[in-house]
Amino acid sequence: MDADVVVIGAGLAGLTAARHLQQQRWSVLVLEATDRVGGRVRDAALPDGGAVELGAQWVGRDHAAVHALADELGLRLVAVEEVGQHLHVDADGQVQRYTGHLPPLPECARADLGAAAALLHAGAPDLADDTAAGWLVRHVPHPDARWVFDHKVRLELCAEPGQVAAAELVRFAADLHLPTFLCADEAYRVAGGPQQLATGLAAILEPQVLRFGCPVQVVETTDRGVRVGTAAGTVSARAVVVATPLTVAARIGFAPPLPGPLDQALRRSPMGTVIKAAVYRDRSGARPGCPPALLDGLPDERHVAFATADLGVPHAGYMDGALSAGVAAAERVIRIGSRDVIAS
Ligand SMILES: Cc1cc2nc3c(=O)[nH]c(=O)nc-3n(C[C@H](O)[C@H](O)[C@H](O)COP(=O)(O)OP(=O)(O)OC[C@H]3O[C@@H](n4cnc5c(N)ncnc54)[C@H](O)[C@@H]3O)c2cc1C
Repeated sequence: MDADVVVIGAGLAGLTAARHLQQQRWSVLVLEATDRVGGRVRDAALPDGGAVELGAQWVGRDHAAVHALADELGLRLVAVEEVGQHLHVDADGQVQRYTGHLPPLPECARADLGAAAALLHAGAPDLADDTAAGWLVRHVPHPDARWVFDHKVRLELCAEPGQVAAAELVRFAADLHLPTFLCADEAYRVAGGPQQLATGLAAILEPQVLRFGCPVQVVETTDRGVRVGTAAGTVSARAVVVATPLTVAARIGFAPPLPGPLDQALRRSPMGTVIKAAVYRDRSGARPGCPPALLDGLPDERHVAFATADLGVPHAGYMDGALSAGVAAAERVIRIGSRDVIAS
């Protein structure tokens, strides 16, 4: 046996699992496909210091485990304050500035929103077998009210309302009262970047635990446990923890095969598509820049999450939003220029 347990994937889930196992005195091996820890948590260094989040960025108020881990690692969580106005740019390039939790909506759209929220709070019976889009068409007549939910789905789940279960709307209805519904959970950022959560966790593990460049291809159950086959060789253990995204787990060859319903569920859990473009302003106040390569070649139909961070002092100011209208819209926002953004 190479270890008691093999963990596949060195994202936050895999590292956390490895840590718990180690605390219980199990020997662990973490097999990671790439050459780094963190997975979907990844930062890039800015030319003038600081970091910008390429992947995960926001720590919600109720992300208790992340709060505890940041505390333990001595990382500072910075509360992001709502200042200034929101800047909403629609697919046609119309710019709206507003304060408060929603863009300006006609009275009847607000009434529709309230009615939909009440229905969702009360546990609407027809949620189970429908998509969010189907449910909204049936229960929310005003298109502007539907847009609010549609936008939330695109923003948070990076998917179209027709692709996600109607049950997701219940969670969103619970957020409707929050000061900024469209970015309800965005409460804190990690000073210096969230990747430190992963590197900090990795540092707690015994050094020989992590093996990089080991994409797992096969998990075979044997009489004595499991044999895990990677491009770099095979390891054996008593048990395996798969800590990859679901859709990636579906590509691992399991022998014997996974139970049919589980296999189908994994295959039917695709990831959303999101591309983040980071725009920064350097400390000297020079003109804002967006490395053009960031936007080159992005297909228009993708969702472009757009985040800027003025990191002169860590997180001194910020603008964050999401565009569901693709690259053309992102470029329009970038062309708005720093003066407008700052003034807004
Ligand atoms: C652009 C973006 C923005 C996000 N923003 C936020 C946010 O603001 N707040 C928030 O809370 N969450 C956010 N998330 C979600 C958050 O990043 C993830 O939920 C979290 O990082 C998932 O961690 P994980 O360990 O489960 O998976 P991952 O981070 O995906 O880790 C899986 C690991 O497994 C490895 N792996 C995959 N296949 C194999 C294989 N066959 N063999 C070996 N290794 C393998 C991968 O390389 C990876 O290192 C965001 C995600 C993205 C992509």
